[in-house]
Amino acid sequence: MHKRLLSLLLIFCLLLTAFTGCKDKSVQTMADVSSGHHSTNSDPLSGLGDQLAPLLKNINIDVGELSPAFSSTVFSYSVTVPNDCTAINITPDYDKNSASIDIEGPTELEVGQNEYDIIVGNGKSSSKYHLNVTRQGSDNTNLTSLSIKGFGISPSFSVDTLEYISNVKSDTEAVDIIAETEDINAKVNIAGSDKLSYGDNTILITVTSASGNSTKEYKITVKRPTAEQEAAQSTAPPVVDDGQKYVAITFDDGPSKYTNKLLDILDKHSVKATFYIVGERISYYPEYLKRAADSGHAFGNHSWDHSNLSKLSDEQKRANLQQTSDKLFEVCGKRPTTIRPPGGNWDRSVKVFDGCNVVYWSVDPEDWKYRNTETVVNNIMSQVGNKSIILLHDLYETSVDAADIVIGKLKEQGYTFVTVDEMLKIKGIT
Ligand code: ZN
Repeated sequence: MHKRLLSLLLIFCLLLTAFTGCKDKSVQTMADVSSGHHSTNSDPLSGLGDQLAPLLKNINIDVGELSPAFSSTVFSYSVTVPNDCTAINITPDYDKNSASIDIEGPTELEVGQNEYDIIVGNGKSSSKYHLNVTRQGSDNTNLTSLSIKGFGISPSFSVDTLEYISNVKSDTEAVDIIAETEDINAKVNIAGSDKLSYGDNTILITVTSASGNSTKEYKITVKRPTAEQEAAQSTAPPVVDDGQKYVAITFDDGPSKYTNKLLDILDKHSVKATFYIVGERISYYPEYLKRAADSGHAFGNHSWDHSNLSKLSDEQKRANLQQTSDKLFEVCGKRPTTIRPPGGNWDRSVKVFDGCNVVYWSVDPEDWKYRNTETVVNNIMSQVGNKSIILLHDLYETSVDAADIVIGKLKEQGYTFVTVDEMLKIKGIT
């Protein structure tokens, strides 16, 4: 990989207070005795008591008391805490001569050794107690996400799926892998060629747990075609009505968190869809739109903010639609080529606006209303026919699941899926 980016996700740890971090009590016995720092100070005005270095009566830490093993004249201790303990609370019990107490050490426990010094002083002299807190490593090797930057992974990441395939374009020479671990202290190693060769490229992502006791390996096969193979794959879209059955499937109101799953489904069926994008949502899911663009899906304009465009002046309509077009172009280098007014609210006598055909739909399963996969599938199948344009919304997982089923059924019935732009050509509109 040219640049490997490893992002470690911090899940529970940082903001936990000392008392929430520890579920278990595990205390090792007192370790070696080391010399405390007993300094004497010859201040002639100080009383006898002040000239003796103050001592602690006890040290408590929230994972278990050091006492009764504690002894005020033993200055070094070792404690082992569970891996999920991310912070400890040290409470020294002062000697009556003490005037100050300092605790030096990390506020967050790292895996391995954490050193603490407790210095008790009275302004004249001081004693130093040392704590060595060992935090054990976990056996957690789970990733929370795995992606190839700019491409996504097909199918969507699941912690239990260890093998992935990603199809990249012929001119893709390197990929960025992002692997996020559930345990911040787990280690990730990404192994593979720095440069993608043509054909299959294998990338192995090995997660080693913080304890070092377990590993998990994820495999990504990145398929890079030659330019010739790529050209052969992208079969030319039909431009005339040749008597076959055609259907276009469209998704309004996205992108959403389900769009990536939908792209997996469309990839699985080798179907190109048309996405009627709401401009203000683009910045939430730019990676999905880039993936959709790279996969050859078509885009339409569904306004910037899902406004009722029929209530706007032409100038306001133009500005609203242009904002979406510009944002989409900025994110994925493509512009919407048709317009679908939200709610169908539009002056129907205006069929082309600023060079874009205004497109409606012919099959409306009212997926937004039912939000039930089976109902949506049945509604589509009862309405669909040759040259239908199916309206769905990728805002709903039920609709995305319905698309999976409907595409399978319609392909079985001999339908060829085309984009809306292709359908307009087939219908002789453009
Ligand atoms: Zn809409």
